Parts: sequence; structure tokens; C-alpha cells
Amino acid sequence: MTQNIPEIYGSLVFNDKIMRSKLPKDMYKALKKTIENGSHLELDVANSVAVAMKEWAIENGATHYTHWFQPMTNVTAEKHDSFISPTGDGQVIMDFSGKELVKGEPDASSFPSGGLRATFEARGYTAWDPTSPAFIKDGTLYIPTAFCSYSGEALDKKTPLLRSMDTLNKEAVNILHILGNKEVKHVSTTVGPEQEYFLVDKDLYNKRKDLVFCGRTLLGAPAPKGQEMEDHYFGTLAPKVSAYMHDLDVELWKLGIPAKTKHNEVAPAQHELAPVFDTTNVAVDHNQLTMEIMKKVADKHGLVCLLHEKPFEGINGSGKHNNWSMSTDTGVNLLDPGKTPAENIQFLVFLMAVIKAVDEYADVLRISVASAGNDHRLGANEAPPAVVSVFLGDELTEIMKSIENDTYFTSHGAVQMDIGAKVLPHFVKDNTDRNRTSPFAFTGNKFEFRMLGSAASVANPNIILNTAVAEALRQFAQELSGVPAEEMEHAVHELIKRAIRKHKRVIFNGNGYTDEWIEEAEKRGLYNLKSTPDALPMWIDEKNIKLFTDHKIFTKEEIFSRYEIWLENYSKTINIEANTMAEMVQKDLLPSVMTYTEKIAAAASAKKAVVADISTACEASLISKLTALEEKMASGVEKLKADTATALATEDPLENAKAYQSVVLEDMEELRKAADAAEILIPDALLPYPTYGKLLFSI
Ligand code: ADP
Ligand code: MG
Repeated sequence: MTQNIPEIYGSLVFNDKIMRSKLPKDMYKALKKTIENGSHLELDVANSVAVAMKEWAIENGATHYTHWFQPMTNVTAEKHDSFISPTGDGQVIMDFSGKELVKGEPDASSFPSGGLRATFEARGYTAWDPTSPAFIKDGTLYIPTAFCSYSGEALDKKTPLLRSMDTLNKEAVNILHILGNKEVKHVSTTVGPEQEYFLVDKDLYNKRKDLVFCGRTLLGAPAPKGQEMEDHYFGTLAPKVSAYMHDLDVELWKLGIPAKTKHNEVAPAQHELAPVFDTTNVAVDHNQLTMEIMKKVADKHGLVCLLHEKPFEGINGSGKHNNWSMSTDTGVNLLDPGKTPAENIQFLVFLMAVIKAVDEYADVLRISVASAGNDHRLGANEAPPAVVSVFLGDELTEIMKSIENDTYFTSHGAVQMDIGAKVLPHFVKDNTDRNRTSPFAFTGNKFEFRMLGSAASVANPNIILNTAVAEALRQFAQELSGVPAEEMEHAVHELIKRAIRKHKRVIFNGNGYTDEWIEEAEKRGLYNLKSTPDALPMWIDEKNIKLFTDHKIFTKEEIFSRYEIWLENYSKTINIEANTMAEMVQKDLLPSVMTYTEKIAAAASAKKAVVADISTACEASLISKLTALEEKMASGVEKLKADTATALATEDPLENAKAYQSVVLEDMEELRKAADAAEILIPDALLPYPTYGKLLFSI
């Protein structure tokens, strides 16, 4: 069946075209003003939009509406209300008011608040975010909203994200005006998140408690084949995977999500999807939806989509590449070197601001991607290391050096150039050195932040990026304000020179996976925050509190509440893993080992009964090996249970997380060694769960 893609694209979205056709002209204009400039929305406009939305939603089969929000969990939340309103005569009409569109009051008491919401104040409210379009899913009109406590503290990810976009807009416009570019009225950040995932067979998945409860395998010996043949990356799509990807694309397109690229990834059973980039706020909402739809569509295909950062040991984990840039309302990408000297100067200022931001706030960038799941990737020889550094590529690094040292830069085309006076070369993606090991790489006209985990919302890293870059721009603006136009070029040159001297330590173009780099990074004074409990205390460091409160991204209370929520989340995650592992070993694997041992013993006796002096050396050796492993497992489970109980009883949230990290995780590793060694000896038919071989190579 052929599908008319342009027709289905965005067919479930209350988009600009629908708004224009459904709204009275003045109402449409007022709404556009709110969307584009963030101006206040009057109630009569809200009422008019509500009526148009309701009509459109009902025409498209919706019976309910929901305020859709992003609490401090990794999933979205929703509560559905129908449009019906009884008329008193046993009939109903379908009703939806501006008030209902603009504000909702869900019970906030069951969402993590990190102590922000006193227990007697269970109420919270959701507020419509008109900058992200409403859409229909499963017969319900979804209205993207921000979620706050009744006293106004953010309980979600969208509120600080919108605040960070505002502050970046303010600082970027300000410096552009200082640089003489007065036309620009608005700057937004743009994001294109590349999403990795695994697909496994649903029946196999359901037989693994670890996958069901934790999203990752806690046990499992390596399969005979892994990713060493490098035959999966960009390989032909298996028919089942291809059918899945096609359905996924169509579902995403209907929701106006511009899914663009799909391919196999490096690990067996691993794949990737990338959309065309969008405004950050919309991209974040879309990525949340994408993750949800990925799981739903998989289910229809008899598959399960794993979004965990490390579902399988010994096999690459999954991440997200957060492609990020800034663009003006005049259509200029500020990280594009441009074609004129003026554009070049602008480019260098914004480029330098990002480098400065990454250097000064590397700790919070690291924290923005920290989670129990992502700890298995960062620094584990596959994903970028835990050290945050910037890759600029050889050409751009040379240019920065020539500015630093006041020397002339010779481009590959042998053009001598004086920065600013002549035009910079266009930095096409450095295809010779597509440095995949860098956590933060410049790729021609955008930066690619590659430390993100596959399961988490992309909101946090973008909140930090936007805010840190805004702060760098603010400081640059201070240095440049009052400089007469004719001296601006020189002033910028000097500013970049000072900044590059200060921040060049964060630039690294080499291989980020090597031990030498980790040593070198330490010498340079860069952070190496290895695990989540190592990193999180920096969140409440004075410099970071100042950054967030100065830019009004988080109040002090909001900062501390997040700190507590993240620590708790880390500990809870590992607690569930420890419980799951103990149960799997105790209730499933140990009995299997015992059954098998019994069978071998019985077989040996049976042999002896027939031929009295026959050798049972093989049986004896297997029984001894299994018994030794059995004992290790039994004592390992006891130790794990005891240490988990101790960790659980630790009151202080940081100490609690540290106990899970330094004791419980270690216990799990030890126990796994014994369990996986036993798994290898047991016939598949007696194993309580499917092997890696089956999970990874059955589709
Ligand atoms: P690569 O192959 O190097 O990863 P692509 O050109 O395929 O790069 O782009 C990867 C992602 O980057 C896509 O989602 C794309 O839409 C996004 N992207 C491209 N330009 C920008 C930009 N200016 N801002 C944000 N994201 C962008
Ligand atoms: Mg990429």
C-alpha cells in the first residue's frame, strides 16, 4: 500500500495551517504573537483557541483532552478528561474552555518533588505551552504543558527549559546588537537528537525478569558472536526490523515528528533514528514522544524496544547525540561560519562562547547526563569518556591558534587570512577525522553533545547548555559594550584571544578513549567525574547555584530539590536491580544448577550400575565445578542482600547513593561472575532465561 506522506505528515497535529484556517484572523495573529515572542495570552484568545482545538480534535475522533507534562521522572504524565458536559436534561454537549486549555490542576503529590512540595500542599498546576503544538494520540487531544507546584516552583523539565531558552535569547540578541547586527529580534536554540535503541523478541523479553524490571540484563554470559565482525553497522535491515521502522516512521510523521534517518547501529540488534532538527522545546517534546511511540510500535510487531543505556554487558550501549545550535529569526545559524567578514566575527564570538561555557560548566554538563544507566557507558571504553572536552577539528583549531598568537592563518587552499578582515573557510564536516570519541564535537555548523544516555529526556543537557552559553555571552557583552563600531573588529579579536588562552585546555582533538588522554585531562585540570554519585555534589557547588539563580533558571530550592530527586533516583534504580538479581539467582538459576547437578549424578550412578568400573570423571568434574559455583552464588546472594539492606537503611541521600555505587554494584558484579560461569555449563533447556545469543540474534 502506498501512502501519501505529505498528506499524513502532521495530520494529528494542531499546526499552523489548521490554526490559520480555524481561528478568526485577529485571534490567529494574537496567538502567533504569543508563540513567537512569548507575549501574554489574553483569555478571549485562549477561549477562541480552545473552541478551534476542540472542534478540530472532535473531527479527528478525539473524545478527551489531557494536559501532557514532564515530571522529574523519565517519562511523561497525563490525566484524561472527556469533553462532555451534561446539559441537565440527560444530554451532553462537547465543551472545552480557554480556562481548561490554559491551566490544569492535577494532584501533584505522587510526583517527585525533592521536598519542594510540603505534604499538606498536594496541589500543583499545569500551564499550557503554546510554543509546542497540541496533537491527538489514541483519541485524546494532548496539550503540552509546564508543571509547577502551587507556589510556583518548577516540578518538571519543561519550565526550566523554557526559562533557559529565554535567557539565551536575551543574551544572544543583546550581543548581536552590540556587534552591530540590529535586525535580529529573536534567537532560538535548535536540537536534533539522534536516538539509539535495541529491539528484542517480546517472548524472549518476557522470560527475563531483569529486562522486565530493570530494562537491562543483570546476568548473561557472552554469546559466541558479539559485534567483532562489524557487520551490523549500516547493514541490511532484517525484514522484521524494516517493517517496524516503517510503521514507526508513519506514526511519527502523523504526529509531525520529522523522522529522517534510520539505520542499524554497531551492536547486534541495535538501531538508530534521527529526526530533522527543530526548536529545542519542540525537539524535547518530540523526543519524549518518539521514545514512547518506539515502544508502542514494537509491541505491535511482537518486539520490545529497549531504551536502557546498557542493556547487554560486553556490547555497545545506547546513547543520544544532541546536535545543538542557535538560530536567529532572520534565518541565520549562528554556528555557521557564514560568507562575509561580519558573519565570521559573529561566528567566532558564538563559537568561543560555547567553548567557554563547556569549559566553565563541564561539571554541570556531566551531571546533566548522569544516571545509574548512563554510568555503564561513560568512560567504559565505548561511549565518550566521563571527561568533557571539545573537538574543533584541525582547521578551526589552527584558526583559534592564529588568533591567540596573532599569526596569520593559512587555509588548505593556501589563502592567507587575517581573521575577520577576510572570509573564513567553510568548515565542512571533517570527514577525514569524524572523531567519534569526543563528548562535545563541532561538526561544521553545530555542536554535537554525545554524552547523553538513550533513556533520559534531552531536556536537562539543553537547559545547561543554553544557560551556560547565555552566561558566556553575557560576559562577552560586558566586555564589548561601549566599543565604537569602527573598533569592534579589533575588540572582538582581543576578546577571542583572551578567551582562547583561558579556555583552550578544554579543546582536545585526539582519541578520547585512551588512558593517556585521561592522564592529560587531569594535568589540564579538567573534571573526571566518573560516576553519578561522584558528579552530583558539584550540582550544589556555589558557582553553579550562582549561574542558575542569576539567570533565573532554578531557584535555590529548585536546585536542591533536583539534587535530592536525582540521588534518590540513582539509589532506587540500583536497589531494584539488586533485588531483581538476588531473586533471579536464588529462585531461578540456583534451582537450575541443582537440577542439572542432580541429573548428572543420577546419570553417573546409572552408568555405574551397568558397567561397574566405567569412568565418571566427566560427570564428577562437572558436578564439582557446578557445586563450587553454586556455593559462590549462594554466598554472593547473601552478601548482596545484606549490603543492599545496609545501603537502603543509609539516611543521607549522598551517602546512600555512594553505598549503592561502591558496595552494592560491586556485589552484583561478583555475583554475576559466578552466575555467568554456571550459565555456560548448563544446557539451554534447563536455563531459566534465554541466553544473550538468543536475545541478540533472533530477529
Ligand atoms: P551526522 O551524520 O554528523 O551525525 P547529520 O547531518 O546527519 O550529522 O545530522 C545529525 C542531526 O543533526 C540531525 O538530527 C540533524 O537534523 C541535526 N542538525 C543539523 N543541523 C542542525 C542545527 N543547526 N541545529 C541542531 N541540529 C542540527
Ligand atoms: Mg551524530
